Amino acid sequence: MKFNTFRVLALMVFTSPCILLRSPGQGAPQSVLGFRNFSAQAKIEEKFLAVPDAKLAGEHLKILTAEPHMAATPEDRSTAEYVAQKFRAAGLDTEIIPYRVLLNQPKAIRVEAYDANGVRLMSGPTPEHVGNDAGQDNPRVVMPFNGSSGSGDVTGEVVYANYGRLEDFNRLAAQHVDLHGKIALIRYGVNFRGVKVYLAEQRGAVGVLLYSDPQDDGYFKGDVYPIGPWRPETGIQRGSVQFLFRYPGDPETPGVSSTLNLPDSARINDYVGLDGDQPSIISIPISYHDAAPILHALKGATVPSGWQGGLPFSYHIGPGGVRVHLVSEQDYQRRVIWDVIGTLKGSEYPDEWVVAGNHRDAWVYGAADPSSGTAAMLEAVHGVGALLKQGWRPKRTILFCSWDAEEEGLIGSTEWVEQHSSELERTVAYFNVDVAVAGSDFGASAVPSLKEFVRDVTRSVPSPLGGTVYQQWRLRQPTSNKPLSNLIPGDDVRMGDMGSGSDFTPFLQHAGVPSTDISSGGPYGVYHSTFDDYQWYTENADPHFVYLQEIARVLGLETLRMADADVLPFDYATYAREISSYVNRAKRNAAELGMSSLDFEPAEKAAARFSSAALKVNTLELSASGNLLKLNTALRNTEAAFLWPNGLPNRPWYRHIIYAPGELTGYSAVDIPGVNEAIDARNSGLAAAQLTVLTTVLDRAAQTLSAGE
Ligand SMILES: [Zn+2]
Repeated sequence: MKFNTFRVLALMVFTSPCILLRSPGQGAPQSVLGFRNFSAQAKIEEKFLAVPDAKLAGEHLKILTAEPHMAATPEDRSTAEYVAQKFRAAGLDTEIIPYRVLLNQPKAIRVEAYDANGVRLMSGPTPEHVGNDAGQDNPRVVMPFNGSSGSGDVTGEVVYANYGRLEDFNRLAAQHVDLHGKIALIRYGVNFRGVKVYLAEQRGAVGVLLYSDPQDDGYFKGDVYPIGPWRPETGIQRGSVQFLFRYPGDPETPGVSSTLNLPDSARINDYVGLDGDQPSIISIPISYHDAAPILHALKGATVPSGWQGGLPFSYHIGPGGVRVHLVSEQDYQRRVIWDVIGTLKGSEYPDEWVVAGNHRDAWVYGAADPSSGTAAMLEAVHGVGALLKQGWRPKRTILFCSWDAEEEGLIGSTEWVEQHSSELERTVAYFNVDVAVAGSDFGASAVPSLKEFVRDVTRSVPSPLGGTVYQQWRLRQPTSNKPLSNLIPGDDVRMGDMGSGSDFTPFLQHAGVPSTDISSGGPYGVYHSTFDDYQWYTENADPHFVYLQEIARVLGLETLRMADADVLPFDYATYAREISSYVNRAKRNAAELGMSSLDFEPAEKAAARFSSAALKVNTLELSASGNLLKLNTALRNTEAAFLWPNGLPNRPWYRHIIYAPGELTGYSAVDIPGVNEAIDARNSGLAAAQLTVLTTVLDRAAQTLSAGE
């Protein structure tokens, strides 16, 4: 599901002291955090790196994208069997695990617009079609729809709400534009589509039309498909409008796993509404081909600055000039989905899991999203299988996971995480890929404790552009003109924080498992459309599949290195610095909003205590001295110490006190969300209570970490 553009980079990223041991980017490192003597591990990694194959990855991609494979369809089942077969061939103990979850599939979608005289302006949805695309005429392509949309038949006047952000709706209110009974026309981009629908519903809209404006991913960016990579006139972005910021997964079973034998009585039966935790109004995604006649006819005030998109006429906010009739008939059923889990038992610490995962289901063909991730993961598994055949065994247990129904709301991963809460307490890390490859630009997000680990791994992997992945990554940084030897803290490659929109969310934000997410990005205008297919991929993203090979190697090395480390390579000193910067920023923000009576001192002091615990433990990690078992237990348990059992205000499923998806952004991370969202809402009482929660978890994290000394 994930869309890289929406990621927000951490504002303050410092390098850890560990990096000062050596200059970064100088080829295969001699000393690597986590290993007493890296030379034995370096030999294993060298053997691994030789195996992932670009041509084979391209073959996986071709097979995985041969048919549309939306969750719970027969074609989705076939891809599960293909993945299971490859896992087994590599020597993984493999299971296809079914869950029964509530999913909607569309029976009928209609959009019609009429002018003030009742003359029809358009009737859609217009089929997705371009001059030359091999996949577009397949009858198994699902009609464009939104996962979690309501059903109904509504007619109303139209109001244009720009990106559908809180400030956009506030702007309409300030101009006395009432949304009650109206249909909101909202462009994709900037925030998660479920947030757009949530806010429109709150303001009284009876329906939402979501469209892709050419300014955001169409001809304003460059040539459109099939000439270039950007969205063509009829291209439509499907997608879930689930209220993901409340909880992901099966909408009927928050916190409970939807196994096949979970009785219906244990599921919430009155689907629509669910106390406002799921959308109840209709939402329909359309192309700019279908949006243009509506926008063109719209009267009312001219749009405020920043609201004009890329269509060649002046936009108005409405209402007036045009009425729209929407029909959405959604077939809600409890449907069976299939995760594929391949396990490789660890020789020394079999109870400690290292998990790598990627979703497999796609809205249509899903060449970039997510089949590039699956193809890369299969080649990582191929590499691990080759090591197995040479007699190698990992110290910790490795699991490779192919999740289903991610597109509908991270469902396969969430149900699996909810089923394995006790094993996940001993899980060391989760490594995600989703849109693994849409171009040549490597990027990553990670919890701060794993940022240096990801950099380290990329120093060992060659880039198709020459040098290492790390070196190419660094060339695209704002500070890339500085010589490597002159790097100062803060200059190193930036990594994003963990928001949401992909399968790391249940691991990190519900179960407290340290997580990373990697990808190789590029111009990508066919997101969630029919045109994200093998033809688009090979013509635009990665003609020779060398970036699939790159991601296979990085994902594989993350997994191998974490599974074999003597000392778990977590850097909590960086985590502590980032948390201190979040607290400082929240304090400044509170002061600016006139909430200077809020007492930040206890949280600041707790952050300082966590920092000094982290610095002591970093020293132990670097020397790999002391009691390793005790040290590793402490390192493993520290992330989970950030969980608060009652969760965040109004969203108990989200238990991580440092990171959550923004309640009003959806994809991008909000740091110390309980505190920051209370401040944004000008709620001093709640902000004070959340500062106490933050102080408590920071002290618990400091104690957990200190137990490793
Ligand atoms: Zn995806």
